[in-house]
Amino acid sequence: MTDQRDPHAIAALLAADRRHAWHPYASALNPPPVYPVASARGVRLQLADGRELLDGMSSWWAAIHGYNHPVLNRAVSAQLGRMSHMMFGGLTNEPAVELCALLAAITPGELERVFLCDSGSVAVEVAIKMALQYWQARGQPGRNRLLTLAGGYHGDTFMAMSVCDPVTGMHHLFRDVLPRQLFAPRPGCGFGQPARAADIAAFEALLAQHRDAIAAVILEPIVQGAGGMHFYSADYLRRVRALCDAHGVLLIADEIATGFGRTGKLFACEHAGIAPDILCLGKALTGGYLSLAATLTSGHVAGIVCSGEAGALMHGPTFMGNPLACAVALASTRLLLSQPWQREIARLEAALRAGLAPAALLPGVREVRVLGAIGVIEMEQEVAMGPITERFLAEGVWIRPFGRLVYTMPPFIMRNDEVARLTHGMIAALEKYLSHPAGEEAR
Ligand SMILES: *Cc1c(COP(=O)(O)O)cnc(C)c1O
Repeated sequence: MTDQRDPHAIAALLAADRRHAWHPYASALNPPPVYPVASARGVRLQLADGRELLDGMSSWWAAIHGYNHPVLNRAVSAQLGRMSHMMFGGLTNEPAVELCALLAAITPGELERVFLCDSGSVAVEVAIKMALQYWQARGQPGRNRLLTLAGGYHGDTFMAMSVCDPVTGMHHLFRDVLPRQLFAPRPGCGFGQPARAADIAAFEALLAQHRDAIAAVILEPIVQGAGGMHFYSADYLRRVRALCDAHGVLLIADEIATGFGRTGKLFACEHAGIAPDILCLGKALTGGYLSLAATLTSGHVAGIVCSGEAGALMHGPTFMGNPLACAVALASTRLLLSQPWQREIARLEAALRAGLAPAALLPGVREVRVLGAIGVIEMEQEVAMGPITERFLAEGVWIRPFGRLVYTMPPFIMRNDEVARLTHGMIAALEKYLSHPAGEEAR
């Protein structure tokens, strides 16, 4: 496959990008470098200049089946021939209904009512709105705060930001407008460890002290993603569930990053054998094809929400239930379930463990940890994005670190020899970066 573009066209594209496009968390005054991708297939990205990269990011947890998958392509094309979009107010469509039914069937517990929306952050907003309307309907509108864990990430809209980690999140910038939420310390007990009474004591105390003001606990089960890539004890999560029950507080599980097999279970709550009252899904929902998210709850919670003053859940995005996105979400989820995905994730876990182990010996590495198809190298110091990205590209891998975290969550279809190449490339790049952090040219 030759997708190589003419260098003048690439330069023009980059110039227009610098002038007009605003990238995530990026300056418009001094934009960081970006690399044009011409196409992608399987686990490989083809840059416009002809370079090929092994994809270690799945486009932020999303592209679990890799890129340009024939089954997903067919699902989109077939739906495109029928209709790409149709309003969901007063009308319905088959892909949306089938998706809701499928999600209700495969998610833990009795989550049977599905609210479709456009992005993960909106799914979190909807989850919180459900919790607030639930307590309004029960005549306790004072229960309107959220209890969460430090080190979390729940999205970039305002209510979602209010429950992101207070230090690494954006609380400081927006402190005058963000609602003040309650934060328990990040769980100290790692994945596979028991949670002792002391591990949960601070959470328990906050919950007991503020129970009459708390609408819900919101957390990422087992894996805290963009807030620090921490893996914590299933036992801790079980205790949270029990405490929420004891205090009559709703539990919102944000599985936007962990859902659809990434941690080795279809949903991370299953590690603890618990079900939340409200569940948020996104990212891998469409296999990375289109923006779609979902908020699920039980018939019980939905019933109470709708018995309140408004008589309805007061939300309704324009592109709700988009048939194109729902068709590819259905195809992606069915594709996942039709395969021995548990075996594949276990295979990836073993390959990542073996491949990343040597990183633990590098100076400046604090910890290497792997769970499911997630591999993390935690550094002592923040890494400089520009120079380290150049090192990864030179090794032919696409890795996008943040802060002190160099991590990978490859597409599930990545073969063992490719994982070996990916992890070898990560470590080689890191080694070169560590010996010359500012890059070759600075020597
Ligand atoms: C990415 C993410 C979100 C936000 O999703 P967007 O689609 O980026 O709005 C929320 N929660 C978690 C756990 C996430 O990983």
